[in-house]
Amino acid sequence: MTIINRFTLRAIGLLVVLLLVSQANAQETRLKWWGHAAFSITTPNGKVLLIDPWLSNPSNADVKDKKDPLAALSRVDYILLTHGHRDHVGDAADIARKTNATLICNPELAGNLVKLADFPKERAEGDGIMGIGGEIQIADGEVTIAMTPAVHSSSVFNPKAGPTEPERAYGGNPAGFVIIIRNGPTIYHSGDTAYFKDMEVIGESYAVDVALLNIGGHFGMEPKMAARAAQSVRAGLAIPHHFGTFPGITPNADAFAAELKKLRIGFYEMKPGETIVFRGKRFITGAGQKP
Ligand SMILES: [Zn+2]
Repeated sequence: MTIINRFTLRAIGLLVVLLLVSQANAQETRLKWWGHAAFSITTPNGKVLLIDPWLSNPSNADVKDKKDPLAALSRVDYILLTHGHRDHVGDAADIARKTNATLICNPELAGNLVKLADFPKERAEGDGIMGIGGEIQIADGEVTIAMTPAVHSSSVFNPKAGPTEPERAYGGNPAGFVIIIRNGPTIYHSGDTAYFKDMEVIGESYAVDVALLNIGGHFGMEPKMAARAAQSVRAGLAIPHHFGTFPGITPNADAFAAELKKLRIGFYEMKPGETIVFRGKRFITGAGQKP
């Protein structure tokens, strides 16, 4: 074999390794918990989805340090809202103004957020306005969003209400989302639901890899039923949210973890501000874990 051939083979080998590495990086999905029900997802192509963005919640370290919680947001392409309550809509209007993100939620909630919360109208009237049972494709087809039922209530706080007007306007039906990411995990966000047995239909219809489940009780699922929800949607991994944020809801994820253990379902507790990474559908890192 000549020197040139050996050199060429080495160069090709190096190129293959580089291609494999860049391919692996390209297929990483990042999931960040901002505390309470707020999560952001960064897709393999770099699109950012933000769900129930109450970033100014008291669990957020930036809020504790009296810093602007929105300063950490460099890019948001889509804002998904499960329902209209203040601990879920949160900072959506400010974020949309800052980032030009497109709103994904039901039409009544979108209409009232424009009217009452000064949500930018042009970001709240596209294909993202949808109903339960519907599926839409976003991010140039990289992500499919299915809106699923939730048993809860939904209303929009009206800061403009006069003394004789109701301070809560209609928020449409509450919902959950199944987020199907090409070359990434399928993620279910339960919103703020009670347990309902038709969650089994979600599990039959979608291959849910990760379930982000509200475990706070009082207003929604208690930890035991949230574990049953993980089983019903056939989640490979269950991550709790909507706990410990304020008095009156479940303070920690211990009971949820214990119930999941009985059901032999994977559990991971994120810390507020933590980002975890998926390579393809596989969960590869969390706090204190090596890839
Ligand atoms: Zn809530």
